[in-house]
Amino acid sequence: MSFENFGIVSFTAETKASDFVSYLEKGQVMATRCRKCGTNYFPPRMDCSKCLSSDVEWFEIKGEGKLVTYTVVNYGPTGFENDAPYTLAIVDFDKVRVFGRLSKGIKEGDIKPGMKLKVLPVRLPGDRIGYEFQRV
Ligand SMILES: [Zn+2]
Repeated sequence: MSFENFGIVSFTAETKASDFVSYLEKGQVMATRCRKCGTNYFPPRMDCSKCLSSDVEWFEIKGEGKLVTYTVVNYGPTGFENDAPYTLAIVDFDKVRVFGRLSKGIKEGDIKPGMKLKVLPVRLPGDRIGYEFQRV
């Protein structure tokens, strides 16, 4: 699988970061780190925008993150119309900040900034794969 299978709608063509999807297949949500200056990237980048080095390594986003902020999307953009409502969130993990969707299993009334979340790969319809935030 490659980036063509990532998410509900693909916006990303084949890229140098296509290993990201292979890691999802293995159950890991990964970010990248620049070996030269130590900057962490999510979504993963294979070229550091700070120091322009291409010497990067992958690392897994593990453990508990904290919800920074979120928004409920009631009217989805093109390709996501049938999927709304869903919740987009920003979650701070130890080394990296991650943007993504909250599991639909978490009710809106239960969502609170600061709540603990983990990030896990999820299977999507049509042999696609993505990731989402779930309760710890
Ligand atoms: Zn760098």
